[in-house]
Amino acid sequence: MASELTINISIDVLAPEELNERERKAMQLAQQAASDAYAPYSNFLVGAALVLEDGTMFKGSNQENAAYPSGLCAERTALFAFSAHHPNEQIEMLAVTARRRNDTNFLAAMPCGACRQVMAEYEHKQGKAIPVLLQGPDGNFYRFKSVADLLPFQFNRENL
Ligand SMILES: [Zn+2]
Repeated sequence: MASELTINISIDVLAPEELNERERKAMQLAQQAASDAYAPYSNFLVGAALVLEDGTMFKGSNQENAAYPSGLCAERTALFAFSAHHPNEQIEMLAVTARRRNDTNFLAAMPCGACRQVMAEYEHKQGKAIPVLLQGPDGNFYRFKSVADLLPFQFNRENL
């Protein structure tokens, strides 16, 4: 008889005033990054910010292209820029938010599968969880304790 496997994922749901100082700054930088997005086709502006151990922050925004598949999401823009500039440092946390061009309200923007895979690569590389703070759909923020919670059964170097 087949057995069943249940996965439980616990997410912290935080009201804006419950963010700590680092989370607040990271989310502010993600909001700034979103406003800098190059998104002339979708007008959906996404911003990502990551915080390093020493407090250095990196931002990324979605970069679209007339040849659509050539564009890149905000999360991967930030992560690749980070890794290119700080190949030996660790990521303490990652924040992501989004808004539509003509709307000042920030929206939930759940990372796409490809971005989750890239986040997982860096989490695996550094051997330490990367908490991910996302703008939630209800005005709250959703804090995932690790990328593994966003991408169970991930493919990584141990599969090679
Ligand atoms: Zn993505």
